[in-house]
Amino acid sequence: MKTAIISGASRGIGSAIAISLAKEGYAVIVGYCNNADKAQEVCDLIIKDGGIAESYKCDVSVPSQVKAMVEYTKKKYSSVDTVVANAGIGSYGMLIDHTDEKITQVINTDLIGYITLCREASKVMLSQKSGNIVTVSSMWGQVGGSCESVYSAAKGGVIAFSKALAKEVALSGVRVNCVAPGFIDTDINSNLTQEEKNAVIAEIPLARVGKPQDVADAVVWLTSDKASYVTGQVIAVNGGLII
Ligand code: NAD
Repeated sequence: MKTAIISGASRGIGSAIAISLAKEGYAVIVGYCNNADKAQEVCDLIIKDGGIAESYKCDVSVPSQVKAMVEYTKKKYSSVDTVVANAGIGSYGMLIDHTDEKITQVINTDLIGYITLCREASKVMLSQKSGNIVTVSSMWGQVGGSCESVYSAAKGGVIAFSKALAKEVALSGVRVNCVAPGFIDTDINSNLTQEEKNAVIAEIPLARVGKPQDVADAVVWLTSDKASYVTGQVIAVNGGLII
């Protein structure tokens, strides 16, 4: 039985990834921070469809919780085959309005949380001599977003980190890739008015907002054998917004 861990999978892009990987035959660990009920709903959907899933409480900004989630998975399922570092928070506003606490929270979640999860996954995958890691960055990690400078810094860091780790672990049979979503319809964008959303959509060559499933499909491909010669890459899922 293949096992996949997805951080922040109780909703949005993470839940679409969990459901999609379960359909590929993975036993899925649905990582969540606070909302146990929502995480259980995702598991119930998977189980109803004949899959295997369980929720696991893990705040990715707390290294001991990340370590415990990976160790739990390895102990229970004997292997950790795929890890998707997805849990993240947005941070909209001028840099001059970001407090020290806010900056620390964003970097701890959106960058250090990714690094910690990938480190713990790598420990298991290097000993298995196999594994797949996918990190969920952002188009702002590629080009920088105005009023999202701290978020962009974290997401840009995720891209550089993923490329570096890919080189480090490749000879051990572990692939590391990154997806960089554009504007995807999830709660992370709930701060935007419909008017602001329409203005973004007007800029998107494919003329629609992305769906969590668009990102999940890219993740499924990256973790499949069809991408067995692909590592260290950033796959943009953005409707052509950033080319
Ligand atoms: P979302 O807000 O619906 O989901 C984020 C998830 O991460 C939530 O389940 C949340 O509880 C969880 N989370 C936040 N902090 C956490 C923590 N400390 N520990 C564990 N879980 C935590 O938004 P989403 O769009 O599904 O975001 C998923 C990822 O995609 C994020 O990393 C986000 O930055 C990235 N992303 C989203 C978009 C977009 O437009 N939606 C674009 C680019 C990148």
